[in-house]
Amino acid sequence: MAQSADVKVLPDIQASKLKVTNTSRPLPKCEPEELGFGKVISDHMLMIQWSAAEGWNAPEIVPSGPIGLHPFSHVFHYAIECYEGMKAYKDSDGNIRMFRPEKNMERMNVSASRLCLPNFDGDELVKCIKELLRLDRDWIPQKKGYAMYLRPVMFSTTPWLGLTQCSEAMLFVLQSPVGPYFKSGYVPIKLHVDAKYIRAWPGGTGNVKFGGNYAPTVASQIAAAKAGCSQALYVYDKEEWVTEAGTMNMFFLIKSTSGTLQLFTPSLEDGCILPGITRLSVIELAKEWGTEVVEEPLPLKIVIDACEQDRCLEAFGTGTAAVLQPVGALQHNGKDYTLPEDGFAEGSFQMKMLAKLKEIQYGEIEHPWSVCIT
Ligand SMILES: *Cc1c(COP(=O)(O)O)cnc(C)c1O
Repeated sequence: MAQSADVKVLPDIQASKLKVTNTSRPLPKCEPEELGFGKVISDHMLMIQWSAAEGWNAPEIVPSGPIGLHPFSHVFHYAIECYEGMKAYKDSDGNIRMFRPEKNMERMNVSASRLCLPNFDGDELVKCIKELLRLDRDWIPQKKGYAMYLRPVMFSTTPWLGLTQCSEAMLFVLQSPVGPYFKSGYVPIKLHVDAKYIRAWPGGTGNVKFGGNYAPTVASQIAAAKAGCSQALYVYDKEEWVTEAGTMNMFFLIKSTSGTLQLFTPSLEDGCILPGITRLSVIELAKEWGTEVVEEPLPLKIVIDACEQDRCLEAFGTGTAAVLQPVGALQHNGKDYTLPEDGFAEGSFQMKMLAKLKEIQYGEIEHPWSVCIT
């Protein structure tokens, strides 16, 4: 339908309008082994401003550095903020590759909508991100297990103390060259079932990457560490429905009492689970391999019973940061449940899955999920 002349169509993000300001003071680089996770920022960042009156302004790539904001900015007071986590990999030919970036764009728009932040054209933002990656390509470590972590983030800069719908916002894409997420690498971790603090509940915001979901989980991490575990496994309700662990989606490979192998992961429909792109990829690959995937609300009892009867063969978490994290044990009500060691050894389901994901991410095999940007 034609727009009537008096309806002003506000501009969306337009990559063709991108302005680039090169840094005059390159930041210090370090050896890949010293990178850690998310400590080092690369030379440039992408910045786009939005206002209800003007829509999306021209995107800008600027030297990474501090930003000035009005102290009343909504983000500081009401946490009106959402983010994404994605990675760019360098393959053995030195090409830069992204992994299913359109999924991150879709999810960020869903998160933004939940917080009444503006939506944007994801294809255009990906084009801008590609430029950002090309500009800082020397920052991307060319080593398996290493990558450029990309952190898109959008927040309300509306400068009033009144809580209202966003009228001014900012979108950044920050870049951090990273090494393996867990210092211990692919060593199995122990999860602490946290029944005290609830991460997500039906009708809440657990299914969007909203900053406010994460602040309250620091206490759970501390409780997990006190219990001698490395991450919290979040459950909710008296049934203790399994949701996620740390910032990872959870999978359990369980042999049914009749002997069939089933890969369990909590389903998305009640809104308690962050729809992970690694999660989706694991589900799709598992189905391709002929593994039965059970995507349903998952009571912890199913897992605990399977552990007690030696039917829980494997458990692992998934997420962009760690890709896949083996779980070696669970602690529930002070009791330890240990999983079999061959569950995370060479040849296990999860190690095959990890190898497959990495092959795709590092472009060792041609696959439509890997977007090569040269
Ligand atoms: C980001 C995130 C994940 C993982 O999502 P990916 O798209 O696989 O990186 C899982 N759980 C939570 C709570 C998250 O924030």
